[in-house]
Amino acid sequence: MSRGEAFCVACGAGPPHSSDRLCETCFRERNSLSECDETSQAYRCPKCGMNFESSRWGFLETDDLLQRRLDDALRIHERAEAVGIATHSEIIDERNVRIHVQVDGQIDAFYFDEKHEVIVRTSNMICTTCTRKDGNYYEATMQIRSAGRKLEEEELAELRGSLDTLLASMEPDPMFFITKEGPVVGGWDVTMGSKSLARTWARHMTQKWGGQTKETHTVVGQKDGLDVTRLTVLYRRPGYDLGDILRWRNRLWTVSAWQKDGPILLALDRREKTGASWRDLEKAVVMSRFVEQVQVDVLNRDASAAEFMDPRDYKMKTVRLPYDDDGSQVQLRLGWITDEWVALPRVRNPDEGSGAGGA
Ligand SMILES: [Zn+2]
Ligand SMILES: [Zn+2]
Repeated sequence: MSRGEAFCVACGAGPPHSSDRLCETCFRERNSLSECDETSQAYRCPKCGMNFESSRWGFLETDDLLQRRLDDALRIHERAEAVGIATHSEIIDERNVRIHVQVDGQIDAFYFDEKHEVIVRTSNMICTTCTRKDGNYYEATMQIRSAGRKLEEEELAELRGSLDTLLASMEPDPMFFITKEGPVVGGWDVTMGSKSLARTWARHMTQKWGGQTKETHTVVGQKDGLDVTRLTVLYRRPGYDLGDILRWRNRLWTVSAWQKDGPILLALDRREKTGASWRDLEKAVVMSRFVEQVQVDVLNRDASAAEFMDPRDYKMKTVRLPYDDDGSQVQLRLGWITDEWVALPRVRNPDEGSGAGGA
């Protein structure tokens, strides 16, 4: 070997050499492209099927789970380049999956091609949610009631259904479970795992159907020197909905939007808008429910009245035009109030949300 020519620092052999000056043989003796554990442990809750991965519970697709286990089991040389990993998984039984792994890549001047097998074992572990459900654990109770009347079946179904809709729109959380629910005198009770879920649901209901909520905290014990409390949220749905016509202070009003302290009302007889409190309206009488109002075609009209066909008896009738009639409306919304049809000023459809309409 002449002076100045590179040689392997271990055995003295000539090039090619790795960046740390080892010949191929010496380099391969000391290095591998990848290392892989023979087994990898996974955990699954036997009650609900959730997986425990990265220190938290959640539902994972099998492919996702296997990928995470492989990421955990397989280590690649830090100087590796152009690495390719191919896998094929083979189900052994309910609890065991064998992953065949092929890794190739380059470290310095040398090409590697390696094979591994890792068995992913799945063991049972009861998740926190199921542990709590089993122990009848709950943090919050929602009491759904009505102000001043009995809730109808369909209203209850609508209110209860809003919880499912809400859950579907939220990030899943292991505490978002229902421990128990059922009918009680005057309404429906739901006990659940999370206070924040109860509060979010209450807010959702007041935005959609108006009404008030009241929170009560009960101390149920102590943990680490702090009080452990349960939350009870009482939600009272008002006896009226958006679009209903109310008699209040001897005038007729449309319920047009919900606010925290009470609804916004629009007068029926002239352009006038007012806010009322929940308490103010406790004595208000619903004269026409939005769901019972009808939409009719204007068949003839003059400056103050319109002719239409009464949907109840198919006879031609006349109705006074609402104050906001623009002379060109081809349809009118009518409410049956006391003993006659009354044409109603335009308000936004309650289904379009809680925005104020008309005025
Ligand atoms: Zn060597
Ligand atoms: Zn579970």
